[in-house]
Amino acid sequence: MPTGRGISALDSAQHQLARAAERMSLPPGTLHRLSRPDRVIEVSIEIQLDDGAPAWFTGYRVQHSNLLGPYKGGIRFHPGVTQDEVRALAMWMTIKCALVAVPFGGAKGGVACDPASLTGDEMERLSRGYVRAIYRDLGPRWDIPAPDVNTGAQVIGWMADEFGRLHGSFEPAAFTGKPDALGGLPARTAATGRGVAYITMAIARRIELDISRATVTLQGFGNVGRYAALDLHRAGARVIAATDVHGGVYNAKGLDVPALAEHASRTGRVSGFAEAEPLDRDRVFDVKADVFIPAAIENQITGETAPRLRTRVVVEGANGPTTPEGEAILHDRGVLVVPDILANAGGVIVSYFEWTGEQTAGGRGQAGVERGLRDHLTRAVDQTYTVAQLHGIELRTAAYMVALRRLAEALVAWRGRQ
Ligand code: GLU
Repeated sequence: MPTGRGISALDSAQHQLARAAERMSLPPGTLHRLSRPDRVIEVSIEIQLDDGAPAWFTGYRVQHSNLLGPYKGGIRFHPGVTQDEVRALAMWMTIKCALVAVPFGGAKGGVACDPASLTGDEMERLSRGYVRAIYRDLGPRWDIPAPDVNTGAQVIGWMADEFGRLHGSFEPAAFTGKPDALGGLPARTAATGRGVAYITMAIARRIELDISRATVTLQGFGNVGRYAALDLHRAGARVIAATDVHGGVYNAKGLDVPALAEHASRTGRVSGFAEAEPLDRDRVFDVKADVFIPAAIENQITGETAPRLRTRVVVEGANGPTTPEGEAILHDRGVLVVPDILANAGGVIVSYFEWTGEQTAGGRGQAGVERGLRDHLTRAVDQTYTVAQLHGIELRTAAYMVALRRLAEALVAWRGRQ
């Protein structure tokens, strides 16, 4: 098992895949095929900064697998983006889409940059520059990007516009997570977080945890954490701590989440919220609660932080927040880990509805989207639980097994053999 603080997301992803493959005796050819991405694209992007000086950035698009449908996955803007990280995230998309039964493959993109140090105009040039560098490898039936860390509807709007210009026609289904005015679904922004809350409630029912009396802590209060917190708060849970990159807040009686969300939208951070005590962001691991939701980035629950968590359930809002070493510690301590590929799949499920809506020029309307989101997630939870119970294994490996079975079947269907 890979250990230590320096472990990469790719090590974690490979470890998880190998573990599930071994458990279900996945044919070696299928494992080989899924251990490596189909294609890795690395580009250099030059833009002009507002002061006229040039700046260079490295961008990636990793197309992991299209066995089940077109490549699909978000694009992140973050200083920590590396090729290995994007490879891991792309593989997780393949497994996630297979698990929740949306007919997409897996991909991911990223640009190594610090969005906080870029102006809006510079962000726009970078978004357009990224698309100019990779647009030949994108397309509504080939590879469909979406938002991820630090990229929302605005970035996707610029990218979709640039793609349309280069392509000679506006292709609404080439991107998901678009602004509403360009055919995006109003429900897409909140979808990942709402899915996290829905999964948390589904799991709580199974372990007889009364969510209306439960306490919740969150690391990350962006597009995932904030909407998960709002829905759990609405269900009666007490959200007692929330942190972001700048700091954190704590209130033993429960944070007023709608007011905190409003504060965070206005100021760009949770700290400074009046009705709470300040909390050092690293201390979120020490706050006792029923549920901990890591909703930031990878490698947060490690050999160092896992022993500190005093929580019954970890629901992975982020992709890859738990290292294999951290997970083994949680497992030994009886903490239930709800894996990212299940917990945060709400985003790509709603992306699928956005994409099919473009194809059929109809769409399913707000209520249909909500229902569809719940149906896909409920089915995936049920199937994961069944496999976990049958084999007496943890949820992550069970979820991988459900997904890998579908991928293995698709491979046979394409090739006529394993
Ligand atoms: N970036 C999101 C994820 O990690 C969603 C991707 C998408 O909608 O394609 O699942």
